[in-house]
Amino acid sequence: MILDGVVVGGSVVDGTGAVRRRADLGWRDGRIVAVGDLGGAAAEERIDADGLVVAPGFVDLHGHSDLSILDHPAGTSKIRQGVTTEVAGNCGLAVAPVAADAVAGVRGLLGIVELPEVPWSWSSVGDYLALVERSRPNLRIALLAGHLAIRASVVGLDQRPPDSDELAAMGGLVQQALDEGAVGLSLGLMYPPSAYASVEELTALAEVVARNNAVLTVHLRDYGAGLLDAVREALTVAERSGCRLQISHLTVAGRRNWGSVPAALAEIDAAAEAGVDVAVDCYPYLAGSTNLSQLAPRWAMDGGQDGLHARLAEPELRTKIIGQMSDPAVGWDEILLGLMPGRPELAGRTVADLAAETGQPPAAAAVELLAVADPSIIAFGRSEADLRAVMTHRLSMIGSDGLAVDPERRDRGLPHPRYFGAYPGLFQRYVREESLLSVEDAVRRCTSAPALRAGLADRGRLEPGLLADLVIFDPATITERSTYLDPWAAPEGIARVVVGGRTVAVEGAVEPVGPS
Ligand SMILES: [Zn+2]
Repeated sequence: MILDGVVVGGSVVDGTGAVRRRADLGWRDGRIVAVGDLGGAAAEERIDADGLVVAPGFVDLHGHSDLSILDHPAGTSKIRQGVTTEVAGNCGLAVAPVAADAVAGVRGLLGIVELPEVPWSWSSVGDYLALVERSRPNLRIALLAGHLAIRASVVGLDQRPPDSDELAAMGGLVQQALDEGAVGLSLGLMYPPSAYASVEELTALAEVVARNNAVLTVHLRDYGAGLLDAVREALTVAERSGCRLQISHLTVAGRRNWGSVPAALAEIDAAAEAGVDVAVDCYPYLAGSTNLSQLAPRWAMDGGQDGLHARLAEPELRTKIIGQMSDPAVGWDEILLGLMPGRPELAGRTVADLAAETGQPPAAAAVELLAVADPSIIAFGRSEADLRAVMTHRLSMIGSDGLAVDPERRDRGLPHPRYFGAYPGLFQRYVREESLLSVEDAVRRCTSAPALRAGLADRGRLEPGLLADLVIFDPATITERSTYLDPWAAPEGIARVVVGGRTVAVEGAVEPVGPS
């Protein structure tokens, strides 16, 4: 048999956590056919990996490229990191399924996921996934259905519980989404109108997820003072429904809350011990990214952005909102503005700095921005000890929480460096420099662990029969070059990325689109 391609001379780190071994790897028709001594095998393409690690392509369990991949199918920022599959639609913020009359309201609430240039032509997950395929992305996209758009489609944007017919309709949309290829359902319990859901509503939807053996990913209700209660709520939903639970980007924000991650992990351990199928993910940074409206009181978001704008136009309510925003757990001097439509000059400035310039209290300056638009923010105020506790936990894995974007589009504001450097940053800082994880264990947390969680059985390991998705890198030189003020920089040390046997990137040079 003539192979389509073979990688020779590398150290194979197969994704299972097993110790690396010197082996060659060959593929045909997009799938791995052999791992072993293939030095003499005939192959159309021969790739030398001497001195390099050959690993399964990274499976990014926590992505938000629902819209960006349609705009930039090259997926440059993710491909350069070695990501070959992204699970999009996290944090309840998926773009499908969605009713046509809910699209406008949903778009106003998608925050960092939204891309105004992309027209919406789908309502079902099937239609959306077909459109993604037609755009020929370099990386594979799997989708979670999102609770936000489902609730908005059935209940609207108001703060109220669904009636029994509405709850059944939401469950029907979840089932249809799973039938059409969604890998699970995501919740974003800090984002309205998801935030208005009760445990009962969430359990009913999780039961649909459980019946399909899909995954429920949960952006918790609180990553601050209420972290433990929020973790308990997610565990309760999983315990009652029997669904597979993925707690998204487990962390805690704000110095006064530091140290609560180990306590949260203890709750998770106890639940796992009692039979709940639970895991967590994290990204290797001490800052998160979301939208400024996340800092507004939840009641102020009733009715979505329109509701917020109406309240901010009433002086009494505006004063009340400012009052409730005046003591955030993460200080205003730790919050960088990212993208503010129409105000590119604000990118990279802190809210505190902006407020000082105009002589206002920071909360008033923030509300002044919110009255016009909802800028993205990068919020610091996390602890290295909490990050390390979650990163090394036996049930944890890596998800970037980033988007596949074009690094040339700096005009779109300042994104979080995780868009460009999460995986190289992990291998540089926590594997090579800090020796917190071995290369093998880190690769497992980036490959087989997330693939298993998402139910993607055909990838994440290097075994005959699985997809020929590979990342070939040098563990001695892999380096993140992204910083908070220059996130767009390409990482170093990743020699080649292969998707389905096709090379999509060599030394950071990325193919414009995937195979037709
Ligand atoms: Zn999230």
